[in-house]
Amino acid sequence: MSNSSVASKSRIVVIGAGIGGLTAGALLAHRGYEVLILDQALVPGGCASTFKRQGFTFDVGATQVAGLEPGGIHHRIFSELEIDLPSATPCDPACAVYLPGESTPINVWRDRTKWHEERLKQFPGSADFWKLLDDLFGASWEFQGRDPVLPPRNLWDLWQLTKAVRPGTLITLPYTFLTVGDALRGCGLEQDRRLRTFLDLQLKLYSQVDAEETALLYAATALNVSQLPQGLFHLQGSMQVLSDRLVAALERDGGKLLMRHTVESIQVDKGKVTGVVIRNQKTGEVWTQTCDRIVANVTVQNLVQLLGENAPGGYKHRVDKLPQASGAFVVYLGVKQEAIPANCPPHLQFLYDAEGPIGENNSLFVSVSHPGDGRAPNGLATIIASSFVDPNPWWRGDYAAMKQEFTEKAIAQLGQFFYLTPETIKYQEAATPRTFAHYTARDLGIVGGIGQRIPTFGPFGFANRTPIKDLWLVGDSTHPGEGTAGVSYSALTVVRQIEAER
Ligand SMILES: Cc1cc2nc3c(=O)[nH]c(=O)nc-3n(C[C@H](O)[C@H](O)[C@H](O)COP(=O)(O)OP(=O)(O)OC[C@H]3O[C@@H](n4cnc5c(N)ncnc54)[C@H](O)[C@@H]3O)c2cc1C
Repeated sequence: MSNSSVASKSRIVVIGAGIGGLTAGALLAHRGYEVLILDQALVPGGCASTFKRQGFTFDVGATQVAGLEPGGIHHRIFSELEIDLPSATPCDPACAVYLPGESTPINVWRDRTKWHEERLKQFPGSADFWKLLDDLFGASWEFQGRDPVLPPRNLWDLWQLTKAVRPGTLITLPYTFLTVGDALRGCGLEQDRRLRTFLDLQLKLYSQVDAEETALLYAATALNVSQLPQGLFHLQGSMQVLSDRLVAALERDGGKLLMRHTVESIQVDKGKVTGVVIRNQKTGEVWTQTCDRIVANVTVQNLVQLLGENAPGGYKHRVDKLPQASGAFVVYLGVKQEAIPANCPPHLQFLYDAEGPIGENNSLFVSVSHPGDGRAPNGLATIIASSFVDPNPWWRGDYAAMKQEFTEKAIAQLGQFFYLTPETIKYQEAATPRTFAHYTARDLGIVGGIGQRIPTFGPFGFANRTPIKDLWLVGDSTHPGEGTAGVSYSALTVVRQIEAER
């Protein structure tokens, strides 16, 4: 525990041991709070956890990590917790994007100059558009680095937000209500189908929506964090190492984590939280745990369900009106190394033409292990391919047939790049929205947050403070959105808000 922290009797329950909940819990324990984290799953980490099959280790969802560089959010938090950052290799290119019918990828290089040259070569005439994004990123990143609270809900939040603003930040203001689609039109690029397609593909990964809908200021950051001095990283071992280290810090500082414990409801009295109803999945025992504060590491849709009739009407209405979020379909393959082409980049994205659509935008995002990275025995490798899907059909109709059809299609599409045969595929498994709902308890199996459209990004999104006193929301439904780095920032914000009340 840090010397500066003052012991406090305040008891905090954290619902969920995803990266958001673990980060909040570990930081709070380190700052002297009594912390209990409850998670319904078998292993911590939520969408950033792993599972093992026949000698292979598969990352469930997240496969690449931002924020490990000095000053990056994971780096800052691990430094405060006095724990080592996991070993990692930088992804270069961060992603190799293959458009339909093209055999040469668009390489999102880590080096800024190299990436700049690639963009101009791939998309002639787009220099003004990229310059605009780079300028907005510069100002937004510096602003974000001063820890603004977005959206503000009280005077302290507003003060944090105001303190983060500098004259340089003001260049972003006129762009607050614009989307990437608006910027493309402004730069005379509305006819550039290839650029639009590339942006749609990349933005869907980060913002859940396409270029037409993604808020420009959000996109400026999402499309710039793959380059130095920031960057994306592939963790040595597996993604689980992030959660394991946060759990170790939590327990070292006196915090407690109970797995296979489901929070069934949040108790509220006179507009303030009083406790949670917990069910032990092993014993079936149900009890109420009283507490002073609750940090809910769940989707905002799940939060409303946990509050039941205590959910404030306006809040519930806003959640009900959110556009349908996407789910994910993921294929996990354990293969012989010979299935992987030589010098294969760690992450690839494929857009397919009309040959049997897969997912919402007929694309696959693919993560490939490399020898010695801890995911497969010698001579073997893992391939993980995911696609966004509408979660609803997976809850009706013939689930088994649908899963089989998607799996076959995905493997057939991957077979255009990888050498996949019954001999080279040693293991295969698939996850659907129903799988994610089961293992992460996310409503309908939705993943990746609420979508970074104008009405739901940054200043207009869901705040970490909720309308219920002493109830906080942390995770990818809040600013700055999805990703292990994003949810860690939201956790840090909540911890600062709780500290400010002490
Ligand atoms: C296919 C896919 C690929 C992705 N790729 C990347 C990537 O490469 N890089 C990246 O940074 N991000 C990626 N992401 C996004 C990233 O994984 C998530 O945004 C992030 O991990 C979410 O963390 P979280 O803490 O908000 O919540 P979650 O990971 O959803 O964790 C919530 C936890 O709460 C628990 N829980 C929920 N309800 C209850 C309850 N009532 N009682 C008890 N426990 C409960 C769950 O079991 C879970 O462990 C990807 C996501 C997916 C699905």
